[in-house]
Amino acid sequence: MPQDGFSAEQQEYLKGFMAGVEARRGALRPAGAGEGGAPPDALRAAQDRVLAAGGKLVPQEQAKRERHPLDRWDELVSRAAEGRFPKPIDDFIGRYHGLFYVGPAQDAFMCRLRIPGGILSAWQLRGIAAIAEDCAGGYADVTTRANLQFREIPAGMGPEVVMRLGDLGLLPRGTGADNIRNITASPTAGIDPAELIDTRPIVRALHHHILNTRDLFGLPRKFNISLSGGGMVEVLQETNDISLTAGHTADGLRFALTLGGITGHRDFARETGVVVAPADVVPVCDAILRVFIAEGCRTDRAKARLKYVLDRMGVDGFLAAVEQRLGRPLERAAWTAPPPPAKHGHVGVHAQAQPGLRWIGVTTPVGRLTAARLRGLAEIAERFGSGTLRLTVWQNLLVSDIPAARVAEAQAAIAALGLGWAASAIRGGLVACTGNAGCKFAASNTKRHAAELADWLEPRITLDAPINIHLTGCHHSCAQHYVADIGLLGAKVEQGEDMVEGYDLHVGGGAGPEQKIGRLVRRVTAEELGPAVLALLQAWQRGRDAGESFSKW
Ligand code: SF4
Repeated sequence: MPQDGFSAEQQEYLKGFMAGVEARRGALRPAGAGEGGAPPDALRAAQDRVLAAGGKLVPQEQAKRERHPLDRWDELVSRAAEGRFPKPIDDFIGRYHGLFYVGPAQDAFMCRLRIPGGILSAWQLRGIAAIAEDCAGGYADVTTRANLQFREIPAGMGPEVVMRLGDLGLLPRGTGADNIRNITASPTAGIDPAELIDTRPIVRALHHHILNTRDLFGLPRKFNISLSGGGMVEVLQETNDISLTAGHTADGLRFALTLGGITGHRDFARETGVVVAPADVVPVCDAILRVFIAEGCRTDRAKARLKYVLDRMGVDGFLAAVEQRLGRPLERAAWTAPPPPAKHGHVGVHAQAQPGLRWIGVTTPVGRLTAARLRGLAEIAERFGSGTLRLTVWQNLLVSDIPAARVAEAQAAIAALGLGWAASAIRGGLVACTGNAGCKFAASNTKRHAAELADWLEPRITLDAPINIHLTGCHHSCAQHYVADIGLLGAKVEQGEDMVEGYDLHVGGGAGPEQKIGRLVRRVTAEELGPAVLALLQAWQRGRDAGESFSKW
């Protein structure tokens, strides 16, 4: 049995594991399960309803019905032991365990982590650096969900990466396929002088509720949840399926609930009029998810997100179903929004709520961090702060709890790593998805073009206000081009008889107080990108009134 990438010790473990798998297959089946292992009740019931109405389940639903993906870890291990990557539908199943086969862009696995609220410890980051070196491409990418991803994982190493992440308390269960993705939240939770509530305990409770509730792995499609506790850093919560934003009501602090955000489909989350008490976040989210499981489309993947359930049922009809699940009415109240976050509040040095302490927003080269830099950041967090690191949806990270007197020393250490803390008005809001160097859907090399664009623009223009430029490789819009001041969507562009890499250039998008979907202006080749963006920035700087953002201009 070929076992590429495994040490002798690991090979022994796998041999023993696989010998036991067949014998134990029956015993591992959940009580009452049918042949092949039955899906959990909520999923099975939803699928049964579709079939009873004469509907045809999509292949992904059929695969879930045959054997629940969480019960198929043994298949992943078995394939890895043979040095094989999965076929498409098996790849879908592997994503329940955080492993994505990303061929043909790379003949390798990608592994997406789960870091609730983006907050992690230095010892975990050191462990991540070791996994990146031992089992992946030697680096990790910060994602737009305040998370990390490994790439270039050989076939034989997939399960090893998942197990080692589990050892670090970062089991990547449900980070792909039809599951609830990493919960995003205010990265400055607990340290931000402007925050209304520390969201960390709520995020932690919700994260563990999801991981430990099997029914919640029965969704028809992926699902995003975000909580903003207020504060200086924009979380883009209204781009999520469930968005909770802290504010004040006559009865005290509540989260305003908005639903169905999916900016790749040009929709922000919709107002509901519902407010949620902090202690009620987990049960309310659970009820919303269960209605989505019951009502979401399982016959057409393109219509399976929450947005389409809301389109069909209406917000009021959907909320009525949520109340039925909860067994009580949702709370409705007038709610006052918190002060808006600072644009590019995720970079630079900031005073914490704790007297004498600072956080430093460190910039990354469009999210990519080598193992050496990951280790270096862990060391900085421990040496100067409390050993806490906080990832943001802006593909950067914060090091917190640094005494004011040691900020200069910490800055020098960050600079010695080749990283910065004072990005330009252009680089501070530069976001790029993986692009065609690692994602089969991408039309263009977004990360490379983003870095080249910033290098080209910075010596040619000095902006007096921060700007967000997002490059996304395809319509899935992982880098959320529709909410950027300048949003670039990868496209193949005709040039003579050739098709070359390029972008559909959008302007005027925004989030938070600048909420707006960007509009398409023109298509450009990658070579034309610099001059085209420069012309836009120059025109904006000349023509706007003071303080006017791109979305208003
Ligand atoms: Fe891949 Fe498209 Fe997401 Fe970019 S936006 S990472 S190209 S799926």
